[in-house]
Amino acid sequence: MLSTIPLENQAFISLSNTREDILSGKYSAKDLCLHYVKKIKSEDRFNAFLEVFEASAMQAATVLDEKVSAGFKGKLTGAIIGIKDNLCYKDHRVSAASQILDGFESQFTATSVQRLIDEGAIIIGRLNCDEFAMGSSNENSSIGGVKNPLNTEYVPGGSSGGSAAAVAAGLCMATLGSDTGGSIRQPASFCGIVGLKPTYGRISRYGLIAFASSFDQIGPLTKSVEDAALLYQVMAGADPMDSTCSIKPVEGSIKSSKPRTFAYLQEVMDSPGLHPDVKAAFKHKLEALTSAGHTVKGVSFPYLDHMVPCYYVLTTAEASSNLARYDGVHYGKRSAASEDIPSTYFNSRTEGFGPEVKRRIMLGTFVLSTGYYDAYYSKGQKVRQLIKSATDAILAESDFIISPTTPHPAFKTGEKADDPIALYLEDIFTVQANLAGNPAISVPLGKTAVGLPFGIQLTAGSFKEADLFETAAQI
Ligand code: GLN
Repeated sequence: MLSTIPLENQAFISLSNTREDILSGKYSAKDLCLHYVKKIKSEDRFNAFLEVFEASAMQAATVLDEKVSAGFKGKLTGAIIGIKDNLCYKDHRVSAASQILDGFESQFTATSVQRLIDEGAIIIGRLNCDEFAMGSSNENSSIGGVKNPLNTEYVPGGSSGGSAAAVAAGLCMATLGSDTGGSIRQPASFCGIVGLKPTYGRISRYGLIAFASSFDQIGPLTKSVEDAALLYQVMAGADPMDSTCSIKPVEGSIKSSKPRTFAYLQEVMDSPGLHPDVKAAFKHKLEALTSAGHTVKGVSFPYLDHMVPCYYVLTTAEASSNLARYDGVHYGKRSAASEDIPSTYFNSRTEGFGPEVKRRIMLGTFVLSTGYYDAYYSKGQKVRQLIKSATDAILAESDFIISPTTPHPAFKTGEKADDPIALYLEDIFTVQANLAGNPAISVPLGKTAVGLPFGIQLTAGSFKEADLFETAAQI
């Protein structure tokens, strides 16, 4: 049966076509799952997968085939999905690519993952990422970096680098990532695929290992906008297990040919770090949109340079609080050198956390400390509110904010590893959506002369994902 699977030769097959193929008996879920298990084992030269859940995936596929014979028609029947290693899946290991969670097994399944499974998806494994989702290149994984499948000398982006690389390399059909400041969209841009960060509160965070709780969102990384929309539709919506998850009904897809208004930020266009190929392709796209009858206008956004500092003050504060739970007692690793409570805490954290995570915990503890709280954390909250108001004001006049996803394409492994500030600046165009809570999508825009892809980002008003999908598909 295996030879009938169209993906044998890497051709793209959508999630909905796969479903049809399985429902019509063209091939079984078991055959499809085996195909990907073998593919990961033989082709993952990129260090994208930390673990293949072979036994449970094959078991799930067998059960799914039986259910299909009995009439089951789930929306994601046969979708072979990988999950970032910060999403819980009951009785499977999860580590956030950190040594501090070494040996830890999830005791429950994340709502987002469960909703995929309920519609017939098969979870094939967990994917490498930056430790606790902190990073922009995947070089902060304690299990080793991920290579960009399009050119293995380059990084895949981060922190959902394994999730992006796995999709780009065709090792599974789609993946889940998390996006706190750009971690879905930036790797999607670097690997030439689609990545969506939904509106804050649109997808339940229950079962997502927290980094910065008021920023984190789960989202899909896919080969097409249609696949991203389908996964989003299945995962979105109220969840009693996450009080920040909105009860607003999830909009269905829309079809509209009406002209749209796109706002680009003048400061982005004038940004000195913008790669010439990215700038040229972006300008070209704006011209094409205008020729197609849409309105494109430049607007001023005076906060561009303040977004990254604001993001790092607030997210490190939240991270320092969230990561306090890893104490060598409750989860995963306990140092062998533990003698009493203080030495257990001290040694387990010293051995368990990597340098970037330690840096963020210290920064966050500092900005929350007595005497500095008002100067940093409170001020950061005020700046966040200003950014949100200014973003809302633009989106009251325009349907979308449009920008390159990142200032440049992927960089070489090691090129920025010693410069945390350079890595923090990777997020300059993506953090706005997280600070303001809006949904944003990255879709492929072009390639540089040396063949490295880069993406274009659309940001819409809160809960307007349907608009994003409709327009992103056209782009
Ligand atoms: N690169 C950003 C950071 O290091 C974004 C991370 C993310 O979105 N998880 O914080």
